[in-house]
Amino acid sequence: MEISVKELWQMVVDNIKQNIPTETYDLWISPLNPLSLEDNIFILGVPNNFFSQWLQEHQQENIEKILSDKLEKPIKLDFKPQQDLSQIMEKVERSPEPPSAPAINKQKDRIDPRYVFDSFVVGASNRYAQWSCEAVAKNPGQQFNPLFIYGGVGLGKTHLLHAIGNYIKQNNPSLRVLYVTAENFFSEFVDVLRFDDNAKASFKNKYRTLDCLLIDDIQFMAGKTASQEEFYNIFNALFSARKQIVISADRPPKELEKVAERLISRFVWGNIADIQPPNLETRVAILRQKASDEKIFVPDDVLMHIATQVKSNIRELEGSLLRISSFSLFTQTPLTVDSVQKILKDIIKPSDNVRITIDLIQKVVASEFNLDFKDMRSKKRTDAIAFPRQIAMYLARNMTDEFSTTEIGDAFGGRDHTTVMYAVEKIKEKTVSDPYFNAKINEIMKKIRSSEN
Ligand code: ADP
Ligand code: MG
Repeated sequence: MEISVKELWQMVVDNIKQNIPTETYDLWISPLNPLSLEDNIFILGVPNNFFSQWLQEHQQENIEKILSDKLEKPIKLDFKPQQDLSQIMEKVERSPEPPSAPAINKQKDRIDPRYVFDSFVVGASNRYAQWSCEAVAKNPGQQFNPLFIYGGVGLGKTHLLHAIGNYIKQNNPSLRVLYVTAENFFSEFVDVLRFDDNAKASFKNKYRTLDCLLIDDIQFMAGKTASQEEFYNIFNALFSARKQIVISADRPPKELEKVAERLISRFVWGNIADIQPPNLETRVAILRQKASDEKIFVPDDVLMHIATQVKSNIRELEGSLLRISSFSLFTQTPLTVDSVQKILKDIIKPSDNVRITIDLIQKVVASEFNLDFKDMRSKKRTDAIAFPRQIAMYLARNMTDEFSTTEIGDAFGGRDHTTVMYAVEKIKEKTVSDPYFNAKINEIMKKIRSSEN
């Protein structure tokens, strides 16, 4: 007898219910809605993309397994954001067509259409990286080759790689571009080795005929000698044909472990750009962008509150937004700073609350420019002192959250707040107009962060 989609889903939720806390179940599982089962793909209606993301991370495998076991054939899960859940209608401002969760794996170039330059918020922490990526997207193979992007988890590396891919696809459709994680490259390569020479040849051919290769999380290649060897050959072939290579990693080239020296030496041939954790202003801007992308309404003071609490990682920032919005949808409670405080309590790690002081900034900047720490507070106005001092003011404004321009002025030997504002504006303009200066500022920011403990 044929079992209906509803019955199948009931079986799945009965199973899940036993294995997760009720609160989690209520929040994430009960709003889901089974839609259809066709060609071994089970389609699940979800309230918005946050749900797809959560499910992918926490339950997809489990659900696929339950369904596959029951139907005795492999079943894949796919998600469809839905508009017509009445609870959501009441709270959420909607546009006619919400973006549906793209099935990236089905796409040959593996480029995720959601990640574009337009949705990437630019701030001091990522300006140089964003600028470099845009330059590469506009002139692949011409300006920076290779481009090496690095930065901590969840700071936008993958987003930028896809953005390059999307830009090229749109503006230069005849070019062949491919996104691949180092992990996928590795497993593809291992797979190919099991087959005949034809498979090997087509693997080589696929990579060597690209116009732009975007390879993500290269640190994954650590210790994988054969893969590195293969990648080395591909790199050389592409490079000598003046084809673009973009590499991302969670650390700078020279800190990559168990990666062949000859590869590392090539990574530094072109341009290297890092991404730092975003400052408060950028975090708020990112939250605003995400809320509007996902068509959820969150009051400004709440956005601000989230942004002051979650500091290190944009993925966590998004996660918090998603959590509080789902919570409020589900419980029908309005989002206030108070309620948000409670919801966020258990996701915020104390390590997020590292403190950067103006003192520390002044020390690092002074030593960077071979000045005396006292010069930061002195009345001297020679360029050699005034310019670094302005940089320190800019950093004090951007790397700390709690000081007003008046307080910053006080910390710089009792200067007026307009002097601080002028300095902040001037340095900001310079970082925008001069990417190399921006890179220098990033470097100083990194020094400040790494000397704080
Ligand atoms: P990484 O690859 O560095 O770990 P991701 O590119 O996956 O980080 O970014 C994590 C999430 O944060 C993604 O959803 C991405 O869209 C978002 N994100 C990161 N930086 C920005 C930004 N500057 N503007 C908007 N969204 C961002
Ligand atoms: Mg990534």
